[in-house]
Amino acid sequence: MSALSTRADLAVRGIRSLNVPVSRRSGAGPSDDGHVLIGGLGGAIPVRSDSPYEVSGNRLLLDGADMGIDIEPVKRPRFYDLTTEDGVSYEKIARLHGANVLATTVVQTCIRYNADQRCRFCSIEASLETGATIAVKRPEQLAEVAEAAVRLDGVTQMIMTTGTSAAKDRGARHLARCVAAVKAVVPNLSIQVQCEPPGDLATITDLHEAGAASIGIHVESLDDNVRKRWMPGKSTVSLDEYREAWREAVRVFGRNQVSTYLLVGLGEDPDELVSGAAELIEMGVYPFVVPFRPLAGTLAVDTDGAQAPAASVLEDITARVAKELQAAGMRGADQKAGCAACGACSVLQTAGG
Ligand code: SF4
Repeated sequence: MSALSTRADLAVRGIRSLNVPVSRRSGAGPSDDGHVLIGGLGGAIPVRSDSPYEVSGNRLLLDGADMGIDIEPVKRPRFYDLTTEDGVSYEKIARLHGANVLATTVVQTCIRYNADQRCRFCSIEASLETGATIAVKRPEQLAEVAEAAVRLDGVTQMIMTTGTSAAKDRGARHLARCVAAVKAVVPNLSIQVQCEPPGDLATITDLHEAGAASIGIHVESLDDNVRKRWMPGKSTVSLDEYREAWREAVRVFGRNQVSTYLLVGLGEDPDELVSGAAELIEMGVYPFVVPFRPLAGTLAVDTDGAQAPAASVLEDITARVAKELQAAGMRGADQKAGCAACGACSVLQTAGG
């Protein structure tokens, strides 16, 4: 099995009984996983009881056989043990992703969360219901946590995402205030913001001026039929509006400091996904190719019974997109901050993208 095949298989089939100190349960993005280093590269790997993979003594086993690959758990960060003066655990304000990314959802609610509007793969409000997080993170709380995470745990980049608000800016202005507050106390921490296309494109400049180094404007699929089926609310924002926002973001943040998620496994045509990714690359936008992850608590699983894509499909698409990225001289690792820079939820880094 090549390194890419193994990595794609792990991304889809996960590891059973993976008990590591840094993990996620529900929330805005990929979840129900454990964070490890696989041969030195970050991996956010699903925890699945039906997986043929397990870890024994820092080695990866497939059906009990040692695969010769080292798996090292990401250590629990020290900032998780702290609380704010008003008694909120730092862990509820921001979390460690991979070995060095501080990630937060600044507003944990979404106007699109009604069952007929919600993205079917999303469980943004579930972690709120379990009390694992708080609804709105205030700028000064984020600054306090970021300062500690840098000082105690050597965090090198931060990601701020948000649920979509009812306001015209779809939540981007609160993000800008949060970025400015964090940069005021840890000026060297690179921050990526993630949001829907903000209604007023000038907001993209506001985010940059607040101190964000990169931006993710995540479309998830470039196929309008897939968008309508999987993201009924979000698909009301047209692909043209996304293209305008990406173009403006590349103008403001620079080539390869803008990214978008593209999910594999929503019923899209693989060739169309790859040619769409090539168009994004041409535009200067990094297509972060990620497998759809069936998560309990989402409509995709609870109502539709959706399954993860085949590892071979993920591998094929990832390899083809990585080739396009290489030809354009774009690497995820060259992003100053963000999911492309982290890479743990995708297989692209293993494929050389
Ligand atoms: S790729 Fe993004 S969502 Fe996944 S672990 Fe890294 S920072 Fe978190």
